[in-house]
Amino acid sequence: MARILIIEDNPANARLAAFILSRHGHEILCAEDALIGLDLARNEQPDLILMDIHLPGMDGLEATRRLRDDPVTADIRIIALTALAMRGDEERIRAAGCDAYLAKPFEHAQLSAAVHGLLYLSLDPESGDA
Ligand code: MN
Repeated sequence: MARILIIEDNPANARLAAFILSRHGHEILCAEDALIGLDLARNEQPDLILMDIHLPGMDGLEATRRLRDDPVTADIRIIALTALAMRGDEERIRAAGCDAYLAKPFEHAQLSAAVHGLLYLSLDPESGDA
């Protein structure tokens, strides 16, 4: 079980991700914008963040850069969520500091695989090829 922070302004998307991940036994925290998300990340120290890229105000790329620049949050794994499918987006997302990328809409299994892949690899880096 992990503590997972979902930063997503679309309530339907946030509920879907929370539903899928809570069924796996994870503790879920939700934030509807980047500033709330940054506060929760610092105060609650989640194991992983699902970061929507398109957010009102500060976007998910800037929020990711701020998390990486803060020693308190620099090591939290981050999965970007974006509806964009334009060439170059994955490079921009990774350059900002995200560990992985998931295009919306995603299947339940894709979200679970992305989350558990990152959590598992970070818990046991010697078994990355399992
Ligand atoms: Mn959004």
